[in-house]
Amino acid sequence: MRLLKCFFITGLAVWLLAACGSNSDSDEAAKDRPLKVVTSFTIIEDLAREIGGDDVEIHNLVPTGTDPHEYEPLPEDIKKATDADILFYNGLNLEGGKDGWFFKMIDSVGQKKENIYSLTERVDPMYLTDESGKEEEVNPHAFIDPAVGIKMAEDMRDALMEKDPERKEDYKKRADAYISRLHEIDKEYEEKINDIPKEKRILVTSERAFQYMTAHYGLKEGYIWEIDTEENGSPQQIKSLVHFIKEHNVPVLFIESNVDPRPMETVSKETGVPFSKKPIYSDEIGKPGEEVDTYVKYLNYNIKLIHDELSK
Ligand SMILES: [Zn+2]
Repeated sequence: MRLLKCFFITGLAVWLLAACGSNSDSDEAAKDRPLKVVTSFTIIEDLAREIGGDDVEIHNLVPTGTDPHEYEPLPEDIKKATDADILFYNGLNLEGGKDGWFFKMIDSVGQKKENIYSLTERVDPMYLTDESGKEEEVNPHAFIDPAVGIKMAEDMRDALMEKDPERKEDYKKRADAYISRLHEIDKEYEEKINDIPKEKRILVTSERAFQYMTAHYGLKEGYIWEIDTEENGSPQQIKSLVHFIKEHNVPVLFIESNVDPRPMETVSKETGVPFSKKPIYSDEIGKPGEEVDTYVKYLNYNIKLIHDELSK
């Protein structure tokens, strides 16, 4: 009996040793290569670059100039998504929701659920209004609000620390420095918007992308269409914005960098309200080397433009 017990304990010890051995092997492997990260669109790609630094190798899916609401993954995207250690997406239906392109791709490559992180789990969704007046469709554009950007950066930091504990401290250090910059920007949004004369605190854009930001800082929002995936700039939509503008004494119209400007040109002609001098950014940041090629620059650029144009 004693012999048997001893044999059992020895067996257990061997098994434990083996388990420890294989574990440290994989840690060893993780240590000398960057973590493979896949991001769904340019703003999340930039967050991963800031927080991941040299510890990550990033492949981004939807590039600048392409609609993140509807996207056709390329063969390269599928390969990178298959090999990724961790994947980040916006959620709130930005990537087309549960039946959208992102999850179709994830299912097709057989990625594990635990490698996939939405960055908006802690964001209270806001809703678009459909033709019958129902508010059922989630507005995905929460990231336009810097306070949401803070939550997204925090969640990315925690996910990277969990996935790659060896380099936990590096992720934390970079993320915390970055997040404190976002806190400063959040304060600046508050100050700059409070500096605009009350009656001019109205932001008119083509798509209703600025709902979270305007609600947070106290701007009224006007728009032609609810979301890019639907019909854009129908006579009915234009008529309804023209009506809004006449009621609200709107000082200026903004056009997003990634939309067809023609519907807003019609609105401007019909109302006599001018355009802002520069485009506003919503669904993307610019290409590397362009004026607005990081999320921080994007946030700073937008608030400066809004403040300059509305406080004239
Ligand atoms: Zn959009």
